[in-house]
Amino acid sequence: MPESKTTTQMEIDFQKQKSGNVFRDRLNKGSFYVLIEAATPEKKEDFAIAAQRLKAVEASLGKYDTLGTGLAITDKTHGSNTWNIADFANELSKDDRDCHVLYISGRNATANDIVDTVARCRSSGFQNVVPVTGDAYFPEGYRKKHKLNFVDSVCTLNTLKSGGDKDFFFAGCTANPFKYTPADLFPQYYKMVKKIKQGAEFIVTQSGWDMMKLQELRWYLEMRELHFPSIARFTLLTTELFEEIFAGKRPGIHISAELRKILLNEAKYGYAQFASAQWRRLQIYAAGAKFLGYTGIQISGVERQEHIATACSKVAEAMREFKSFEDWRDGYLSYLSRADMTPYPYRHFMFNNLFTKAYPELATMKKVDLPECGKYEKLHYRMCKLLFSKAHRHSSNEHLLSKKIFTGCRKCSSCRLPFTQFVCPETCPKGLANGPCGGTRADGTCEFGGKQCIHAKIFRRASWLKDLDSLEERYIKPVEKI
Ligand code: SF4
Repeated sequence: MPESKTTTQMEIDFQKQKSGNVFRDRLNKGSFYVLIEAATPEKKEDFAIAAQRLKAVEASLGKYDTLGTGLAITDKTHGSNTWNIADFANELSKDDRDCHVLYISGRNATANDIVDTVARCRSSGFQNVVPVTGDAYFPEGYRKKHKLNFVDSVCTLNTLKSGGDKDFFFAGCTANPFKYTPADLFPQYYKMVKKIKQGAEFIVTQSGWDMMKLQELRWYLEMRELHFPSIARFTLLTTELFEEIFAGKRPGIHISAELRKILLNEAKYGYAQFASAQWRRLQIYAAGAKFLGYTGIQISGVERQEHIATACSKVAEAMREFKSFEDWRDGYLSYLSRADMTPYPYRHFMFNNLFTKAYPELATMKKVDLPECGKYEKLHYRMCKLLFSKAHRHSSNEHLLSKKIFTGCRKCSSCRLPFTQFVCPETCPKGLANGPCGGTRADGTCEFGGKQCIHAKIFRRASWLKDLDSLEERYIKPVEKI
């Protein structure tokens, strides 16, 4: 059982760990990498059986001259009550731990849980980690009044950076480029830059099928001279899964109406036809990721051993198939019959001339009317500034009633209102102060439903105050909930 693994963890050959890191070295050299996702099992599943399955998955990763391959072990993907990710990953071969990436989820976790998981990753020799905040997930018996605790991925990156082991870890971050309104897209990018400033050295995108959005992210990074390797996440679809995504049941992932029509058409001729269309889609996306400047692809939805080997060899084939960006682009557009990939009516793109070239030599940014604060919002801001501009220095009880009335204050150990344009971060269902999660719906409303994401409001105010830089510069420390 995982609790008794301390002794085996100590047997790891740290000499190998010090001498290099296959994943980091390949990414930094720009050699294409394929990560296959495997989820940490829930505790109701027998650990030994899940560990056997993981070993089999590892064994089915192929060896290719042109590709590096490894596993992306995800944390709390289907539930919150999972085995500890480092204990689960500790079942993998000790020789190849630098090929794999561990996602550390902040869902249903405390800051101490994160410190503990980071220490376990360290002692098991897993250097490649990606902190994530975690999606909304409602465990059995969940009621809205039971607030789940989320640790912001920015805070986990800060924990990695400020711990004594910062040189040991190669930490990445996630970003969701599949956002189609300015109020949704810009805060996402500001947060990504904040994560880079907190030590992230590579970027993994959310799953999506709109390659123009993937190009938009690469162009944004290039134009800001943020030369960090990035990995495009891709989900191999099943007929059930695409309908679930289309119905909005997977936070932050969208399928457009026209793509759904294509998928329904592919499904019409039975399972085999549908499956072969998805393999072809994987190949086109993998090749596209390479031409758009991504250094790898992370594939989810491939769980059976034989499918893992197929996925790796299909990607290796795709790397050889297309000869140039233009060749690939024409193939991609005709495969999709030039379908609209945006979630109508939301279709904001940051650049005018995406898809004309692989790299943004001639890129021009679209003029965009950023959302504006109304006169009541400005009045509210001014009142709050008058009353609470020093709130971070006050005791948590000071001005409590007026803070409740003006900002919906939930009373934390230390007030963050002066750092969040006087929008209380506790009004975000995940309590995120450092920027949005990736889970907003296509119209910019919160993944928990109903209201607009609070970070759109913070962005609007920062834009009015010409204080947008603070959205990527200022690290806001976590607080205790009282
Ligand atoms: S308010 Fe925004 S950041 Fe918070 S959970 Fe909702 S979508 Fe995510």
